[in-house]
Amino acid sequence: MEKIILKKGRERSVLKRHPWVFSGAVESAPDGIGVGETVEVVAHDGATLGYGSFSPLSQIRVRMLSFDPAKTPDAAFIEARVAASVGRRADFFANAYTNAMRLVNAESDGLPGVVADYYAGWVICQFTSAGAEFWKTTVASALMKFAPFCQGVAERADADVRAKEGLAVGGFAVMEGAEPPELVEISEGPCKFLVDVHKGHKTGFYLDQRDARLAVGSLANGAEVLNCFSYTGGFGIFARQCGAMAVTQVDVSRDALELAKKNESLVHLCGTTMEYVEEDVFKYLRRCRDERRRFDMIVLDPPKFAESRSQVMKASRGYKDINLLAMKLLKPNGILATFSCSGAMDETLFSKVLAEAAEDAGRDFQTIAKTRQGADHPVALSFPEGAYLKGAVLRAID
Ligand code: SAH
Repeated sequence: MEKIILKKGRERSVLKRHPWVFSGAVESAPDGIGVGETVEVVAHDGATLGYGSFSPLSQIRVRMLSFDPAKTPDAAFIEARVAASVGRRADFFANAYTNAMRLVNAESDGLPGVVADYYAGWVICQFTSAGAEFWKTTVASALMKFAPFCQGVAERADADVRAKEGLAVGGFAVMEGAEPPELVEISEGPCKFLVDVHKGHKTGFYLDQRDARLAVGSLANGAEVLNCFSYTGGFGIFARQCGAMAVTQVDVSRDALELAKKNESLVHLCGTTMEYVEEDVFKYLRRCRDERRRFDMIVLDPPKFAESRSQVMKASRGYKDINLLAMKLLKPNGILATFSCSGAMDETLFSKVLAEAAEDAGRDFQTIAKTRQGADHPVALSFPEGAYLKGAVLRAID
């Protein structure tokens, strides 16, 4: 096995079990190491620190798989990692609140670059690093074996980040078992949703917002709800099932709204007025302001505004803009459920942006809940970068 020697002092983060070795930390690496090949990571003094997957094109040159010099990653090692990761979700299967969850959450589950999401018996994977690509057939067969009631495992290769790792950006491919239907029906608490596992965002659904949907639902009874950036309707439909009086779903994507409508028809509850608006949220919120429309509850779950640290300032302005507009549209005692999935924007900065928006809106708010990605999207303590999603549920107290 080829050896990667680190610069003096750069072993520190590896000793703390951080999984990423950046290119700037590498003193020497032999030529010709294959993409995703397993390498031995060695400190400047010659001590073996562990083993990881080599990525010649990425800034993250090695992603650690094993921090134990005695444990060399092989297929059995990867299979055991998958089995353990699925095993940690046993409670999800046992309590049956939902039949959709993340089974493998990349670095935080000891499998860098590997994401595997479970949708009612179908597993959809993303392999976003060279090492993940290298091991993907082993991962897929292990998922087929260990995921409960698994009918098939498929790959979505359309994430742009693959290009950074020098991996081909492609489409949907079956890896194990049968091909999932175009739309997979899942259940979550009082709701059912159709998930477009072939072409939908990420692997099809925002599983990471499950806890936030519950928080929104718990406050939705009798409310007139505006769900901005609705995608396939998640928050809005959940709110409706929890007693909302009226729900407006806003998104620029016609396809997303079409699926939101199908999702509405899956659940039966009469009396709620459902409205679908295909429009830019920034414009729609201004229109509501001009038309003096008011809501009891507004959900703001925008796409990632900051892709990297350099975009954080610009992103902050975007977050402030929509939050300020939404804050002004709330009725007295209204609720704002607001989220940021930009990993580059940390929770402290997000709170600061919200405080500034409230100040400019001239209204007082109290935080009544904070949300984060659910327990099936764990964050390893040694890998704080894994915590990307944060949310705040605020109440206007004027
Ligand atoms: N809240 C959703 C996930 C949101 S994903 C859920 O829980 O399922 C972000 C969504 O924002 C996408 O559906 C995308 O089409 C939409 N979007 C992006 N920019 C937008 C804009 N400026 N105005 C309206 N929708 C936008």
